[in-house]
Amino acid sequence: MASIFTKIVSGEIPSYKVAENEEFYAFLDINPNAKGHTLVIPKKEENKLFDLSKEEYNRLMDFSYDVAKAIEKTIPCERIGMSVIGLEVPHVHVHLIPINEMDDMRFTRKAKLSNEEFVSLAEGIAANFA
Ligand code: 5GP
Repeated sequence: MASIFTKIVSGEIPSYKVAENEEFYAFLDINPNAKGHTLVIPKKEENKLFDLSKEEYNRLMDFSYDVAKAIEKTIPCERIGMSVIGLEVPHVHVHLIPINEMDDMRFTRKAKLSNEEFVSLAEGIAANFA
């Protein structure tokens, strides 16, 4: 069965898109730790990060770098934190999170955003994506 994220890539489930190329897709996390919390995924469904080939892994990191730079330009923050977990959704995703303190990297503290805020954040990051 297709993962939630495969359905997002196909458009079956809506998302706040931030960036895309032929191999990867970046969109806002729907339950963000902080404003601008973004997920970067390979369009090809793979469960675990280290099941990707080394080449795919490196291309994912390369794409994530450009997305992180765009987030950094858009959202005032101390730095961009990066994490890969995958216990909830079995489709590789890199969390890129604008952080100011350690608690922003804990997945227990969540930001509540309106639809308008999600749209404006996604548009802002997309505009800064190289
Ligand atoms: P993990 O698998 O790394 O533990 O976390 C999965 C992440 O995906 C969570 O931060 C969760 O909020 C996010 N997520 C789960 N379902 C959806 C969805 O349908 N849309 C979006 N944009 N994010 C989702």
